[in-house]
Amino acid sequence: MTTPKTETKEFQAEVKKLLDIVIHSLYTERDIFLRELISNAADALEKFRHQNLLEKEVFDADAPLEIAIQVNEKDNTLTITDSGIGMTRDELVDNLGTIAHSGSKTFLAELADSAKKDVSLIGQFGVGFYAAFMVAKRVRVQSRSYRPDDIGHEWASEAAGSYTVSENPGLHRGTRIILELKEDAAEFASETKVKRIIQQYSNFVSFPIKVAGEAVNTVQAIWARGAHDLTDEDYNAFYKFIANASDEPFYRLHFTADAPLAIKALLFTPKDNFERLGFGRMESGVSLYCQRVLIDQHNKNILPEWLRFVQGVVDSEDLPLNISRQALQDNALVAKLNKVLTSRFLKFLDEQAGKEPEQYRAFYKIFGMFLKEGATMDYTHRPALAKLLRFESSRSAAGELVSLADYVGRMGKDQKDIYYINGASREAIEAGPYLETFKKRDLEVLYTLEPIDDFVFSHLQEFEDKKLLSADRADLELPEMPEDKDEAAKPREAALETEVADSLVKWMKEVLGDRVKEVRLSKRLEDSPAIIVNPDGFMTSSMERIMRAQSHELHDFGAKNLEVNPRHSLIKSLPPARIKDEELAKTAVEQIFDNAIIQAGLVVEPRAMVERSYRILEKALKS
Ligand code: ADP
Ligand code: MG
Repeated sequence: MTTPKTETKEFQAEVKKLLDIVIHSLYTERDIFLRELISNAADALEKFRHQNLLEKEVFDADAPLEIAIQVNEKDNTLTITDSGIGMTRDELVDNLGTIAHSGSKTFLAELADSAKKDVSLIGQFGVGFYAAFMVAKRVRVQSRSYRPDDIGHEWASEAAGSYTVSENPGLHRGTRIILELKEDAAEFASETKVKRIIQQYSNFVSFPIKVAGEAVNTVQAIWARGAHDLTDEDYNAFYKFIANASDEPFYRLHFTADAPLAIKALLFTPKDNFERLGFGRMESGVSLYCQRVLIDQHNKNILPEWLRFVQGVVDSEDLPLNISRQALQDNALVAKLNKVLTSRFLKFLDEQAGKEPEQYRAFYKIFGMFLKEGATMDYTHRPALAKLLRFESSRSAAGELVSLADYVGRMGKDQKDIYYINGASREAIEAGPYLETFKKRDLEVLYTLEPIDDFVFSHLQEFEDKKLLSADRADLELPEMPEDKDEAAKPREAALETEVADSLVKWMKEVLGDRVKEVRLSKRLEDSPAIIVNPDGFMTSSMERIMRAQSHELHDFGAKNLEVNPRHSLIKSLPPARIKDEELAKTAVEQIFDNAIIQAGLVVEPRAMVERSYRILEKALKS
């Protein structure tokens, strides 16, 4: 269409270079051209919406804000029409004939270097429009600005170094891009194909995208809207869509932030934890958007791995559109986004726990394992995670959970540390020897019933400046015993004399040899004769148990200490037994040791122990 008003213009040198590469590249992801053009259309609509609020008069004020896509298989064309802000003649020349962004030079350099010529990075450098030439041999852009005095123009190019601009009266407001597709790009003249691409990349664009008159993006960008004009139904429908779920979400967090980053996020937690139910590892469920255009679905970098159960959408206009997946991995902005989102989400959980503790407990039962995983892996968020953890304790009713803050709030003024003990069950812990001294001193002990708990605590190390100490540590320094009011009523059993006791523990160490590191007199035992404690402050018996179970090789976990109770009648009967029948006394010491090992939840060699206990029984019955 050559009229006297048609003007032919040369592309800027950089554009020429870029187009040359775009045209002569092998494409891995040609589909993305549509995402780029839709994103431009959505931008133009957004700009119009904004401008419409500011201007007295706009052209075509009543045109609905939407994007229409038409395909024509016969002519092999694809047309994208928007009723956005449009472009004047000068704008067409500036925007589509030159590259304003300095970043595009980098892109060119990168493209020229790379053997594969990954053009899909194109949008990242503010030159997304030119992606049209991946699929089109000729591109026509008809545009009419919102400004009342514009007349409308057509820009056209075959990318061969130049383009034409001509007047084109009679257009509606906005831009129509007509792609005359290459022979090998005929697939893009198919409605089905186009619909699929839209659903994949542009489903949440907040303007209707119509193909043959029908909106394809059924779900709108509800995260970009204010919470006040959204209903539970809106949220739930959106959740079901993104999470591919049939039920409703458990929690939902919808928030907007301007600093340090512009973020609009809508996060959900599901009702079920499929990982816990044994369905394999969950995959990250949060998609990353930039101004309602999908950058990466189920992005792995936007939240830490231990939040992989979270579903939702994060939209940040600070991110470059169409940043590649690779670039996302080590993008500083993404790392910052990750930190901000994670902190906000953990704060949200803490608020929920405060407002509706029952509901939080239900959540914790299902998803607590992820918070624990986070506490062992994530240094940055450790303090926030510690606040969210819950445990049974010697002060809680069975099945009830307390927080570390609850515990600290109850600590007496002499208590400096937080104590915990691991066991298979509440009953097992309460029947074992470890709790005795704490009960006597009226100290609360947290019960770590899950195998991972001791790892969590050894990583946390402290909470609000209070050390977290396992009750089976050898070096526990407990506060002084309170005055026993019942002392008169029930006098304490007398202890072995110091000299006798000292010689007893020395001999016991000889009997047990390398099996123990030290045998000591216990200050912590009341009713039990002996207890195993860990000289290594990091390793608890529970952790050793897990590590043993996980590796088939024989690890040396270091010998433990045996503490014996000098007031216990069994221990007190050892010195005389040693004189009367040393063999029997030795056998008894070995059995005491094995029993303590069992009470620590560790494994003993059953054959030797069974055989030994028969020997003891035989002696007992014969005498
Ligand atoms: P970017 O979108 O990053 O600015 P593009 O190469 O995709 O880079 O587009 C270049 C410019 O062309 C846009 O900034 C915009 O000003 C203009 N443009 C492209 N498509 C449209 C459209 N449909 N309506 C209005 N302006 C557009
Ligand atoms: Mg663009």
